[in-house]
Amino acid sequence: NVSAEEAEMTGKEEKAKTRVKHNIVFVTAEAAPYSKTGGLGDVCGSLPIALAARGHRVMVISPRYLNGVSDKNYARAVDLGRRINVNCFRGQHEVAFFHEYRQGVDWVFVDHASYHRAGNPYGDTHGAFGDNQFRFTLLSHAACEAPLILPLGGHTYGEKCLFLVNDWHASLVPVLLGAKYRPHGVYKDARSILCIHNLAHQGVEPAATFQNLGLPSEWYGALEWIFPTWARAHALDKGEAVNILKGAIVTADRIMTVSQGYSWEITTIEGGYGLNELLSSRKSVLNGITNGIDVDDWDPAKDKHIPFHYSINDLSGKAQCKAALQKELGLAMRPDCPMIGFIGRLDYQKGTDLIRMAVPELMQNDIQFVMLGSGDLATEQWMRSTEAAYKDKFRGWVGFNVPISHRITAGCDILLMPSRFEPCGLNQLYAMRYGTIPIVHATGGLRDTVENFNPFANEGRGQGTGWVFSPLSKERMLEALRLAIQTYREHKDSWKGLMERGMSQDFTWDNAASQYEQIFEWAFIDSP
Ligand code: ADP
Repeated sequence: NVSAEEAEMTGKEEKAKTRVKHNIVFVTAEAAPYSKTGGLGDVCGSLPIALAARGHRVMVISPRYLNGVSDKNYARAVDLGRRINVNCFRGQHEVAFFHEYRQGVDWVFVDHASYHRAGNPYGDTHGAFGDNQFRFTLLSHAACEAPLILPLGGHTYGEKCLFLVNDWHASLVPVLLGAKYRPHGVYKDARSILCIHNLAHQGVEPAATFQNLGLPSEWYGALEWIFPTWARAHALDKGEAVNILKGAIVTADRIMTVSQGYSWEITTIEGGYGLNELLSSRKSVLNGITNGIDVDDWDPAKDKHIPFHYSINDLSGKAQCKAALQKELGLAMRPDCPMIGFIGRLDYQKGTDLIRMAVPELMQNDIQFVMLGSGDLATEQWMRSTEAAYKDKFRGWVGFNVPISHRITAGCDILLMPSRFEPCGLNQLYAMRYGTIPIVHATGGLRDTVENFNPFANEGRGQGTGWVFSPLSKERMLEALRLAIQTYREHKDSWKGLMERGMSQDFTWDNAASQYEQIFEWAFIDSP
């Protein structure tokens, strides 16, 4: 006799056996824990591991950034002893490959002097690096060679692989497959999928830089981009430019984004950043899959960054985390005072201007508010002065600090995300897992993942996981905050329901990875 559980297990194993196994090559500017400035790093640090666990052979290729601060991240990656010369930017540029095999994944790091400098992957305190086009052109060329030449674990990945290229930094890969390799019969059976994490960054440079990219001149059209009229004011070349992301949009076998909502938004004029028509024309190969999260790293029951642990069955640790956070921040240790958090890049995208406008009114309430973030200098300055103005209510933590982000996620009652657009958004997912109620603008992945609270549904037991406001305005955001504060104070049962529904959702990467497999299948079956 086979129990239902055993039968399910056997079914799963059978399925796993019949599933097609691919050789997958992620190409990315960031991969946590080696490098990370945002969600891209998280995704490329976690999804590959989930896919490897499902039986695929997976390589992640990204630069070996040595910035003097996080160099130890690469300590276990060894020089493979292979060198190649990349022909681009009017010269030959030698790159090396480093490798670490960890959690079933081949982590490959491209090494070149241009990756060795202070700052994050894209820039420093003076702004973006001026040679990013060069740095990521090198990455893309090297990534195309890696599966052919690197004997990882004794043998190469070979030609029949699936490139998963992320954002503009890796977008030359599908163009190179078509322009440089396939004319010589190489990579005929390879496929490429472009994953768009943020359409706002496209790798746009003056048209004259095309000749630096190492592509045959007849491929200019693939990258050619005429600025839409509304953007002409910023045009670099009388409206004509090369757009590297566009190159991948027209040449990749399939296109994906990190939520279904965002995959629709980028086909609209408001969300398409000039590429909406082109993306619409490729709708038949465009999909969205919501990101998972690293449920080991972000687990309130064992998180190494938080002082007390808790779970859906025993929430007492959350109250202790709140008290500890209040103490750490020098705020009054009041369990009853609603504590609101914000974590993220201080950027127009994240709607921090709205928070700035709303704070004077918000501070009329008996609340505590902590903001963690870095980026826009004026907002950083504003955080400092607001802290001075509201000493007993407001804390502004300027910087990028992962342990603090965990403590805020665990200690706060509410997490505010008024993003103007949000391809997926991770903080709302972390928040729900930690029993912290998200208040979000109805956009992209935020709208897909947070369900607006309805106190009357389910025979009065309530439904939903947070507050979803629209349109994006100070008034609507304050209204959502008022409702949340009131619910927190006056309807404890409703609040508990909100916490429990959020905490019991499945945000695992395994879930997302199984959806990715469907896209992989389509890439091989019906590539255009
Ligand atoms: P984006 O990729 O647009 O920055 P996401 O929500 O997808 O936004 O991912 C942001 C990631 O970066 C999350 O893991 C978030 O916790 C983290 N993060 C953002 N700002 C900070 C900060 N100041 N300190 C620590 N972690 C941060």
